[in-house]
Amino acid sequence: MEDKVRDLKICIIGAGMGGLTCALALAKRGFRNIHVYEFAPDLGFVGAGIQLAPNMARILDRLGVWDDIQREAVVLADTSIRQGSSDEELANVDLGYVGTTYGYPHMVGHRSSLAGSIFAGCQREAAVNFHFSTSCSDLSSFSPRPSFTAKSASGSEKVECDVLLGADGVKSRTRTALLNAIHATAEVEDSGQACYRIMLTRDEMAHDPELLKLIDTDRATRWIGAKRHIIAYPVSNKSIYNISTAQPDVNFADAPSATYTTKGSKSAMLDVYADFCPMIQRMLNLVPEGEVCEWKLRVHQPLPTWVHGSVALVGDACHPTLPHMAQGAAQAIEDAAVLGVVLSRLPDSEPDSITKALRVYEVVRKERAEALVALAASSGKALHLGEGAAKEERDKQFAKFRQGGKGDVPDKWADADVQKMVYGHDCMTVAGDVFYEEFEKLS
Ligand SMILES: Cc1cc2nc3c(=O)[nH]c(=O)nc-3n(C[C@H](O)[C@H](O)[C@H](O)COP(=O)(O)OP(=O)(O)OC[C@H]3O[C@@H](n4cnc5c(N)ncnc54)[C@H](O)[C@@H]3O)c2cc1C
Repeated sequence: MEDKVRDLKICIIGAGMGGLTCALALAKRGFRNIHVYEFAPDLGFVGAGIQLAPNMARILDRLGVWDDIQREAVVLADTSIRQGSSDEELANVDLGYVGTTYGYPHMVGHRSSLAGSIFAGCQREAAVNFHFSTSCSDLSSFSPRPSFTAKSASGSEKVECDVLLGADGVKSRTRTALLNAIHATAEVEDSGQACYRIMLTRDEMAHDPELLKLIDTDRATRWIGAKRHIIAYPVSNKSIYNISTAQPDVNFADAPSATYTTKGSKSAMLDVYADFCPMIQRMLNLVPEGEVCEWKLRVHQPLPTWVHGSVALVGDACHPTLPHMAQGAAQAIEDAAVLGVVLSRLPDSEPDSITKALRVYEVVRKERAEALVALAASSGKALHLGEGAAKEERDKQFAKFRQGGKGDVPDKWADADVQKMVYGHDCMTVAGDVFYEEFEKLS
């Protein structure tokens, strides 16, 4: 990489999983002038677990931060999909093969461990500069030099750069500005779903042998019912049981774009899962009063493009997803890794070349990320079926799998063919392989 490319000023808006990994991936490729702007005063991650799929692990390992993450993570041996009302097992899917087949086992961990380790990796790189408590707005130029306003307690500043990456999440202002600039419209969509995120400590569960067994087993369990499900697994060396739900949204329905989260009512949560089995009732009852937090689940219409001039979108800013494939952060991390590959192959520092390299990023990433968004939505639909012919058909599929241990699993996250497509994909190798050909095509 020539010096002029190395010295390109790269600004990243947002220090979520996407923005942090962009900074790390670019620093590892030799870029020397990277700035990350974050609205919040610190990383401020929600206390929640996250699945660490092999396609995510492969990238983070190459970026030198995987060891710290996996130290606290739990390796999943299997996943059990169960009827919420009765706890009857619909299917048990072995995940033990994942490690040998894809190079990394399927793991689950704490969000703060994932984000904290990527952040620590960034802090070891002199090239990465963080600007916390800084809000970015007024993206007014896309090329030859993107510019925006960065506002902090010390005042407002106009920032110019050579490349701008909008990793600013589902409510991305960068996306809005980009769509305006190309006279396109695409809106945030109300998924109609919300989720509770709960973390129970081992101590809280210890008195109940059935609950203790849950936290002690190397398993992700999904309990399903009409329009709702719960997924749960142990994290942080099994000291915490992470529970995440999905149910029809009632609390955000009046103001779908105003808020992300709301303090939930414990009795409302218990009502939603009132017909789930007694063990689940006891588990949900352990949540301390006043600590129920409900999240709105948002998606977005597919965008016509992720790139304009020297600006590109990353992660939830361009492909927010329902969580049912557990791939949102993994896909943001794939975006970041591919940006590292394509920008490091820039033949020169000209704005036209930057645009072309970003377009190669879009070629490598957009179709795949959008396919996974669609798959998460369709898998959620199958999991949430109410009584009727479609549910009967789904349960026959579960039964067929249960008998033979082979065939399609309606919970697409656990389906071996889908796992091959998701976990077997090495986005960095693909990006490296196609870069020059795709770059030339754009000439
Ligand atoms: C219930 C649930 C479970 C999930 N489980 C999984 C899972 O198991 N595995 C998985 O891979 N994914 C999972 N996801 C998805 C994953 O959490 C997200 O896709 C991922 O965190 C998105 O990262 P991001 O960096 O794109 O956006 P974000 O994390 O939203 O980060 C955007 C950042 O930009 C900042 N920002 C926004 N606007 C501005 C501005 N104007 N100026 C400055 N800063 C700004 C924000 O403060 C924020 O820090 C789950 C999601 C949910 C809701």
